[in-house]
Amino acid sequence: MRTCVGCRRSQPRSHLLRVVMQVVQDLGRLVPDPLAREKGRGAWLHHECLEEAMRRKAFNRALKFDGSLEIEALAEYLSNGSERR
Ligand SMILES: [Zn+2]
Repeated sequence: MRTCVGCRRSQPRSHLLRVVMQVVQDLGRLVPDPLAREKGRGAWLHHECLEEAMRRKAFNRALKFDGSLEIEALAEYLSNGSERR
C-alpha cells in the first residue's frame, strides 16, 4: 500500500503514480516515474490529485525539498500521457 500525497488515502501502488524530483539548480522538477524505477525519494499520487498535492505543498514535505517546484512535465503527463500509453 502507498499513500497519495494529495488526498492521503492509501491504495495499492498500482492505483498510484510514483513521482520523483530532479533538482536543477534551485528548482525541483517533478517528473512521472510510471515504472517506479527511478532511484531516490519518491512521492505517490493519484492522477487526479496533483492540484490538491500542490495546494498542500505535499511534494515539498514528501521529498524533503524547500525550493520551488516545476510541475509542467508531470501535469502534461497526467493530462494526456497516461491515456496515450
Ligand atoms: Zn489521491
